[in-house]
Amino acid sequence: MDSKKRVALVAHDNMKDELIQWAVYNKTALTKHELYATGTTGTLLEGALDQPVTRFLSGPLGGDQQIGAGIAEGRIDVLIFFWDPMEAQPHDPDIKALLRVAATWNIPTACNRASADFLLTSPLMYTSYQPVLNDYSSYINRRLK
Ligand code: PGA
Repeated sequence: MDSKKRVALVAHDNMKDELIQWAVYNKTALTKHELYATGTTGTLLEGALDQPVTRFLSGPLGGDQQIGAGIAEGRIDVLIFFWDPMEAQPHDPDIKALLRVAATWNIPTACNRASADFLLTSPLMYTSYQPVLNDYSSYINRRLK
């Protein structure tokens, strides 16, 4: 990944205030990167930051899956995902899938504000970086009888 990162941001409804507060506090740092978000989160972010945000569908309508596809296809470098630990979501399977894909492709992922602070202040956010990937070739090339 380049020194300029493609950062996807997602916040569940009860977590949106916290994500927006965090984003406004870190506005200067975020301007150095390209931002992506699920629909509603993206609209709020664009209103709060003076910066364009590429918006996917709303999470429950498939936005989490779009971000997951972006990770798998190498179009998203970093995931900031403030998921709600206190309330089940209608799209729980999509949330699990997004977190799984982020782990599969070993991208930097922050699921709460403190982790997002640590992530965004890492010098690696401003240099090119190649995540070490598991070798999935034996899985890809496995023979099924
Ligand atoms: P939203 O989606 O930004 O459209 O609210 C987030 C989510 O609930 O996954």
